[in-house]
Formats: sequence, structure tokens, C-alpha cells
Amino acid sequence: MKADLIAPCGMNCNLCSSYLAYSTGLPKQRGKIHHCQGCLPRGKLCGQLKRDCTKIRKAEIRFCYECASFPCDRLKTLDNRYRKNYNTSFIENLREIEKDGLDSFLRNQEKAFACEKCGEVKSIHNGKCYRCERVTSWKG
Ligand SMILES: [Zn+2]
Repeated sequence: MKADLIAPCGMNCNLCSSYLAYSTGLPKQRGKIHHCQGCLPRGKLCGQLKRDCTKIRKAEIRFCYECASFPCDRLKTLDNRYRKNYNTSFIENLREIEKDGLDSFLRNQEKAFACEKCGEVKSIHNGKCYRCERVTSWKG
């Protein structure tokens, strides 16, 4: 997993279905399959919070936990949505990164999201392994 794919908010773009579609070369389907290089590589810093957060917009912080208002209401709202829909917490991710470091966090994520068949990481959004899916359902 790539460290620069951990967004300031604690989202792990390595597990995002749009990133996996991009990185594995899944053919684009209009309105259905989006391709994304990840929040930081795209220069978006954070698609969710940047618009409302000066510190992220000006790149004054790498992660939200560095901020005095962590966790702010905007991050809590985002965190709630991901807890509810995808059983993951950005705030817990960030606390783990702060406590144990980014390398340890990445290793834990690799274990937690490994495909049972091939060991590649599965998407946090739909539970799919894009490598196995590639073998069975698309060419390229
Ligand atoms: Zn797989």
C-alpha cells in the first residue's frame, strides 16, 4: 500500500473502488465506474474537507489529528457516514496513525483487507477484489 494514498481525513485511498478501478485498469463505464488516482495524488488534498478547511487547503497539516480542533464537526460527519455505510472509522484510523505510525497502520490495513483468494487488497466500498474480478470478468 502507498503511504501517499492516506488522505488527511484518514481515508485510505488504497481501498477505494475508484482508485482500484484506476490502478487495475478496469474499463470506464459512463456513470458507473469512476477512475481516481487518490485524493493526494490528484492534488485535491481532501475532496471531502478541503473546501471548508483552511489548514488542509494550505497544506499546513498532513493529517487531521495534527489540528487543535481534531476531530472537528466536519470530520465527525464524514466519519459517521463511513462508519454507517462501510464499517470503517477515519477518526480511529487517524488515532492509530498518530499512535503507531503510518508504516504500522499500512501493514494492519493490508492484513485487514486482504483478498482470501489472491492476497490483493479488497475495496472498502464494495468488498471486491479487483485482481480476481479482472481474471473472471474483464480483459486488459
Ligand atoms: Zn483476489
